[in-house]
Amino acid sequence: MNTPNAFSLHGRTALITGGGSGIGLATAKCLAACGAKVILAGRREVELHEAVAEIGEQAVAQVLDVTATAELPALAESMRAQHGPISILVNNAGINLKKAFTETSEDELLRILQTNVVGAMALTRAVHPQLRESGVGSVVFISSMAALFGIPWVSSYAISKSALTGAVRTLAVEFGSDRIRVNAVAPGWFDTAMTQKAFTSDPARKQKILSRTPLGCLGDTEDIGWSVAYLCSPAAKFITGTIIPVDGGVSIGF
Ligand code: NDP
Repeated sequence: MNTPNAFSLHGRTALITGGGSGIGLATAKCLAACGAKVILAGRREVELHEAVAEIGEQAVAQVLDVTATAELPALAESMRAQHGPISILVNNAGINLKKAFTETSEDELLRILQTNVVGAMALTRAVHPQLRESGVGSVVFISSMAALFGIPWVSSYAISKSALTGAVRTLAVEFGSDRIRVNAVAPGWFDTAMTQKAFTSDPARKQKILSRTPLGCLGDTEDIGWSVAYLCSPAAKFITGTIIPVDGGVSIGF
């Protein structure tokens, strides 16, 4: 055994998009608890600074819009200059749209794809030289149950998350020789701003979800955070190209 603590992220710098709230913030806390320096990225500066204050000196804020793709290479270089090479990228930033497919416009579909897919790809491309340089690069996408089975009224979102499945497998193969691992976590249902909004407009949905969840509850956002920390750690050094459901069993429940 060469690694004293295979779960340690000491000496690593992690960039987490959407790190100011929900699953992204919980993930940043878990990565920081494992020793990583965490860069929390998002559009809302005040929220990011509040999140940084919660984590402490291991965290910094970076205002960044993943849809402003032309700005990302320069921002990536600026982060390297300030914080050292990024070796962990968590593509967590995401938006949802609950609407029947026949009522969803092309612009609405494109808006979801622009953030959840195009933005995540552009940032991955911009950070790739740093991931390669680190020799221990790890990219984690935050997928969704919507990429695993059919869920009505979220076609744009499901299409975007399904696209990430292709990204995980393709990039894992393309980046393997650079020792960059690429994986995804598919969260079940968690108590965040995004789900609270969905449950308020459709209370029966929450009951339906719980009724098919073997563990019988919604997840805590840190359940996602620890799974991401594991995937980025030396303990997972032979894991790439995979999508791990973290869902209380909902994806296999009946
Ligand atoms: P939140 O709405 O709390 O988080 C979304 C985050 O993404 C925010 O911090 C937001 O920050 C950031 N974001 C959105 N657009 C952009 C952008 N253009 N550029 C940079 N950052 C952006 O929701 P969750 O924590 O629930 O969601 C996080 C991820 O988890 C998403 O990808 C979501 O699809 C996924 N997910 C969530 C589930 C759940 O149960 N909650 C289940 C399955 C998947 P800001 O607005 O400041 O930019």
